[in-house]
Amino acid sequence: MTLADSELERYSRQIVLDDIGFEGQEKLRKAVVTVVGAGGLGTPIAQQLVAMGIGKLRLVDRDVVEISNLHRQILYSPEDVGLPKVEVAIRKLKKMNPDVEFEPITASLNDDSAKGIVRGSDIVLDGLDSIYARYALNRACLKLSVPYVFGSAIETTGSATTIIPKKTPCLECLYPNLRDEDLPKCGTEGVHPSILTIVSSVEVSEAVKVLVGKEPSLAGQLFYADIRDVTFDKIKIARQSDCRACNDQADLSEEILPRKLVEDICGREQGKSVHVITPKENLQLDLLALKRELSRRNSTIKALGEHGVTFSYNPKINVSLVRSGVAIVVGASTEQKALEVYDDLVISGLRVPVERIDPKFRVILASLTN
Ligand SMILES: [Zn+2]
Repeated sequence: MTLADSELERYSRQIVLDDIGFEGQEKLRKAVVTVVGAGGLGTPIAQQLVAMGIGKLRLVDRDVVEISNLHRQILYSPEDVGLPKVEVAIRKLKKMNPDVEFEPITASLNDDSAKGIVRGSDIVLDGLDSIYARYALNRACLKLSVPYVFGSAIETTGSATTIIPKKTPCLECLYPNLRDEDLPKCGTEGVHPSILTIVSSVEVSEAVKVLVGKEPSLAGQLFYADIRDVTFDKIKIARQSDCRACNDQADLSEEILPRKLVEDICGREQGKSVHVITPKENLQLDLLALKRELSRRNSTIKALGEHGVTFSYNPKINVSLVRSGVAIVVGASTEQKALEVYDDLVISGLRVPVERIDPKFRVILASLTN
């Protein structure tokens, strides 16, 4: 399969690079690349990869676009608020390069879903904002022997490393035993858009090296940057013989990020509590049926897409529901209230059998009431 003339022209300025070349471009065109997270890092990563002509992009995110995303997630516009990020991103990326194949996944990343998300990828790039989700991703990549480019950014600082399973240190060699609860959040600490462009570019250049068969520069090295004083560093990192994830006897069946029916998320929307509800299965919800149900209830639909809908459930509570069945409930004061909303909408309203959401759904709801 050789490159067409139009491709030779489109990619001429990168084909001419020693680092890519004609054969490299052919490899890129065959590559299946998974980007987990379609936020501050994930969107510029996806934009570069798509423009460069990868074969297929699998884009994973369960969230919807919010106004507070727009200063840094520059793929999105005000009219996209309330729509699933994955849907909006792919619509725009398709226009950038219609030759690329796209696979949207609107699921939560956890121990159950991680392997399915990683399987079949030539490489995975990190645009996540949770260490638990990253641990689950790291372990899935180790299990399936898929290279994983880690990247993160907060305030004016960012870092990245390239993890080649069983060859380089893994994420848990580098950062063992961290807890999301103890880590700074961009909702409270802030994040400078410029650091995201730097870290995402480093992640992409590393991924391209791996895909074209060159040695990645950050194998066993941690890239660290701070744009406050424009510091760039590369720090040697080592594999840990007692690493819980990558030593030869490691028990990878140990749960890192078990699926939680309800997660309490902070800092997403100022002053409002946010609960994310993740069903056991991908529910493949019928969004047109949901739309009919919402108009029957006189609910105001704020944004309706192919993969999700955002609406006001009542004057205090807004809900975003994506097709996989993940719901983001904003403004419910307690977990119990959030589950009651889900019960009302999905189980009563859309008649989804409760076992598909969680066999213990009623038990959990009852235990929260007491
Ligand atoms: Zn390790």
